[in-house]
Amino acid sequence: MHRPSLPHLHRQDPDLAGLVEAEARRQFEKIRLIASENYVSPAVLEATGSVLTNKYSEGYPGRRYYEGQQNVDPVELLAVERARHLFGAEHANVQPYSGSPANLAVYAAFLRPGDTVLGLSLPMGGHLTHGWSVSATGKWFNAVRYEVRRDTGRIDLDQVRELALKERPKLIWCGGTALPRTIDFAAFAEIAREAGAVLAADIAHIAGLVAGGAHPSPAGHADVVTTTTHKTLRGPRGAMILSTAEHAAALDRAVFPGLQGGPHNHTTAAIAVALAEAARPDFAEYAHRVVANARALADALLERGYDLISGGTDTHLILIDLTNKGVPGKPAARALDAAGIELNHNAVPFDPRKPFDPSGLRVGTAAITTRGLTPDRMPQIAAWIDEVVTAAAADPDDASVADRVAAEIRELTAAYPMPGWAPAG
Ligand SMILES: *Cc1c(COP(=O)(O)O)cnc(C)c1O
Repeated sequence: MHRPSLPHLHRQDPDLAGLVEAEARRQFEKIRLIASENYVSPAVLEATGSVLTNKYSEGYPGRRYYEGQQNVDPVELLAVERARHLFGAEHANVQPYSGSPANLAVYAAFLRPGDTVLGLSLPMGGHLTHGWSVSATGKWFNAVRYEVRRDTGRIDLDQVRELALKERPKLIWCGGTALPRTIDFAAFAEIAREAGAVLAADIAHIAGLVAGGAHPSPAGHADVVTTTTHKTLRGPRGAMILSTAEHAAALDRAVFPGLQGGPHNHTTAAIAVALAEAARPDFAEYAHRVVANARALADALLERGYDLISGGTDTHLILIDLTNKGVPGKPAARALDAAGIELNHNAVPFDPRKPFDPSGLRVGTAAITTRGLTPDRMPQIAAWIDEVVTAAAADPDDASVADRVAAEIRELTAAYPMPGWAPAG
């Protein structure tokens, strides 16, 4: 049952209520290893579901286009102050609707259409919005892409520097969606300075680790930092842009009125709640436990002969190349989901397979760490992954292993409470 339960929804729209309850149970019963997902706290859920969703407030605190901002202004100011404090930033904008619009605002602030941007290639672990071809950012700007090194699986900083000095981009992105290793913000900053480019660090995946001191901070290195608020940071779906005071006005104008209308005040409030949670000592412990779990899971997978990009992890994220296991990423991910282990298929660097049917799996430990799982549990999870992947490689139509593993996993997850929901009775 949802806590608090959903009495109005159940009465008024039972079909929809049933779907919400079913999704909650699914999240409760599975081992959720999607690297971009988490479980938010009941307080974050309450703020997200609050009457702040009823209010329009185009503009910024003290400079709004609608009356009645007596409570919304302090909500947004709280979120801004907490963001600045937590990430050591001179300026914070908490209005972007999500990570992709936040990144688009960075382009709007610094570039004109046709200008050059340098970002990590998508199949190497970059994000669509860092200039990939199918994204507007790849169509409207002259996108140049760097890669990871074939031998190490780590970012090729020599290539970044070479491309930056040759192409003279106005904007350089660092950060990505499938990078298991620490991002060297200082090295990127030096390259950006040399090339005369703005350095934007997209810490969407690692924001919670940065907040908790489990990954170095881009503060003092990047001119602009963008992040989603819903991944390791464990807040509502939303985003923030942090920057030096120098770039504050340009970024604020780019978000509103450049790209957006009214901010989502219920989300802003939930971001403020999540930021206060992330400033507590127990969140720092959480962030370090996320990394400890990822390391333990990586070690257990290596022991079972799994090929991990870069040979391991420094973060919450593991990227597996399944080529030596004789099964592509997509059927493996599907079999694992049927067995109660939820993750996503993912391209690996220099993947010979197509993006919609790639060679790899991406794994993250943010959600299971929120549930309370500890490193001693990781060998068992690796064993389940191995059993299911091996069975999928042998006979994709045999569901017997998946069914047994799913039952074992339901038994495990039942012992780890989920924020905001509990089984009835
Ligand atoms: C998730 C992510 C985004 C985009 O966030 P959305 O909220 O899905 O738009 C941007 N950049 C990186 C690196 C991400 O991981």
